[in-house]
Amino acid sequence: MRPARLDPLFAPLVTLKGVGAKLEALYQRLLGTEAAPRVVDLLLHLPSGIIDRRARPTLAEAVPGTIVTVEVLIEKHRAPPASKSRAPYRILTSDETGDLTLVWFYAHKARMEQMCPVGETRIVSGTIELFDGIRQMVHPDRVMTAEQFATMPLIEPVYPMTEGLGAGLIRRAEEAALTRLPKLPEWLDAHLVSQKAWPDFATALRTLHAPADIRDFAPEGPAWSRLAYDELVANQLALALVRANLRRPAGRRNVGDGALRARLAAALPFALTGSQQKAVAEIAADMGAETRMLRLLQGDVGSGKTVVALMAMAAAAETGRQSALMAPTELLARQHAKTLKALAGSVGLEVAILTGREKGREREAILAGLASGTIPIVVGTHALFQESVRFHDLGLAVIDEQHRFGVHQRLALAAKGEAVDLLVMTATPIPRTLVLTYFGDMESSQLTEKPAGRKPVDTRVISLEKLPDIIDGVGRALEAGRQVYWVCPLVAESEDPDSAAGDLAAAEERYQMFRQRFAEAVALVHGQMKGPDKDAAMARFQSGDARLLVATTVIEVGVDVPAASIMVIDHAERFGLAQLHQLRGRIGRGETASTCILIYKGPLGETSAKRLDIMRETEDGFRIAEEDLKLRGEGDLLGTKQSGLPGFRVARLEHHAPLIEIARNDAKLIVETDPKLEGPRGEALRDLLYLFGRHEAIRLVKAG
Ligand code: ADP
Ligand code: MG
Repeated sequence: MRPARLDPLFAPLVTLKGVGAKLEALYQRLLGTEAAPRVVDLLLHLPSGIIDRRARPTLAEAVPGTIVTVEVLIEKHRAPPASKSRAPYRILTSDETGDLTLVWFYAHKARMEQMCPVGETRIVSGTIELFDGIRQMVHPDRVMTAEQFATMPLIEPVYPMTEGLGAGLIRRAEEAALTRLPKLPEWLDAHLVSQKAWPDFATALRTLHAPADIRDFAPEGPAWSRLAYDELVANQLALALVRANLRRPAGRRNVGDGALRARLAAALPFALTGSQQKAVAEIAADMGAETRMLRLLQGDVGSGKTVVALMAMAAAAETGRQSALMAPTELLARQHAKTLKALAGSVGLEVAILTGREKGREREAILAGLASGTIPIVVGTHALFQESVRFHDLGLAVIDEQHRFGVHQRLALAAKGEAVDLLVMTATPIPRTLVLTYFGDMESSQLTEKPAGRKPVDTRVISLEKLPDIIDGVGRALEAGRQVYWVCPLVAESEDPDSAAGDLAAAEERYQMFRQRFAEAVALVHGQMKGPDKDAAMARFQSGDARLLVATTVIEVGVDVPAASIMVIDHAERFGLAQLHQLRGRIGRGETASTCILIYKGPLGETSAKRLDIMRETEDGFRIAEEDLKLRGEGDLLGTKQSGLPGFRVARLEHHAPLIEIARNDAKLIVETDPKLEGPRGEALRDLLYLFGRHEAIRLVKAG
């Protein structure tokens, strides 16, 4: 039960003055919450910058990339022509030292003219940028007359915005939210707080939302660091509680005599690589120990994780216990089932599949087989969590592509058995800080070698203008009997009405185009297709009946068609680095030399250009993961910096990484000294877990 003192913070946002039902939906989008946003969600939505009106630089002095307040003369309006209403509205301004163009998208002419009459001076605040050598400010935060300016606070936070929620609205809502802050007990260690000179939680929030000085706002400063640390501790504590709960001695060993594994190894059509053998041995050692296994299996795309998992499942089967493998998508679950069936069948191990699609009698039969224990291995999606799924004796849970699941799901699966060993497979090599952040202290096995016979992929970056040439090239490849993936960012244009270009290569459209040219050789697969249609398309491609597969990113993870040797990624500039790497990992698996073509639509932003360069330079997954981390947080959309760790609202890797280790040790100590969170600090820490949405871990404390 959530302590009552937190109630004001967990009240719906609409209880704040000025936030009505209409705005609620906008706030939900802005704050990215799953349900209706609450006061705490808004409070943890920190400003993205500060306007400091004390400094009033001339245009020549204003530093590009910073938020400035400048006084300018309005010279000229440039409204977009009626035929191009999506073009920006510009106002040309100047002072004695230079020029500045103010830019708005979707502006009303009349309103603009009223706000900025030609010949008058205005004081404007916003981020100055250089665009082709021209100074400009996109969507100024404020445009004021001298009289208005005189009434403004000299220091004011700026918030990340969303359409329909302007800076002023958010600012006023934050002010109202701050008044709801109750007095909370300190949950951090007193020594640490005084050593770091950190303020308490409420003071830190007030400081960031209403800074008295620009330095108050620095991410490395005491206020932000305090909150970042709070968030990191909440996260580490939740992970530590999960771990403590899972690691309690189970008193049973989930490995048998090795006979099945030996037969399986002999039946494999290939020899395991050195690092596969090592991983198999590490896993078997864990499974054979008294405590539960909690191990991460990291390996780049195509490094052969599935067969390692299978060996672990065989070890469990030797003791008569069952294994479950959970994949993030249905497509991937089917793929895994197919691979596993082919390999396990040779030693008589049955593999069943259970997703949302198995229905009726088929489903009943599978559920019955799992409950009676006649099915030793089941592969599925999150359908495996459901209440109705009961195992006779689950010994091993394997979770593939874990970054898509939360702690919660991991627990749910592990709770399906008495002492389930847990193996988590991730495709992207994750740097240590991130492993710690998302998994806590976990053992890890790494597949560092690629299976023999892999050939490097030739990666090319080509402009969309060359599309006809690329299509001709694909035609020649198809004639030569090769198989091609063609990946598009969206299913249909209507999905993304905001895309200014409006000309995204939609999979459907490309598919129609290719059908006309290559007829039956083309298949289409995307996330919105019905399961059986998806399967049919994949099966046609897998069998070689279809040779060109037009797809969205549903094929990003795990799909394995070794004969495919060409990967074309349409609008590659729209994809993240990790995603591009995953996609490229689909090829280079067979005999023929493979080619990856990254089609981009120019002009490229700096970050996208860098991403494509890295793709061209390297196939090393670890290097790509590191570069990806560096590049993220340099999003250049309208100058709003989108940085941070996925799933974290306050902590920023680039500023707070050193705090992660401290938080880890802190959490470890807490769990050792007060595992049930019963002491005074433990009680306070429960508040912390609630505030940062990590309270599902509290259930464990109760259970234990
Ligand atoms: P991933 O790590 O991306 O999940 P998979 O497990 O899907 O990789 O393996 C990719 C492909 O490599 C599969 O076709 C698999 O059968 C094959 N493979 C796995 N291990 C080896 C090996 N040691 N030698 C040759 N091929 C292998
Ligand atoms: Mg895989």
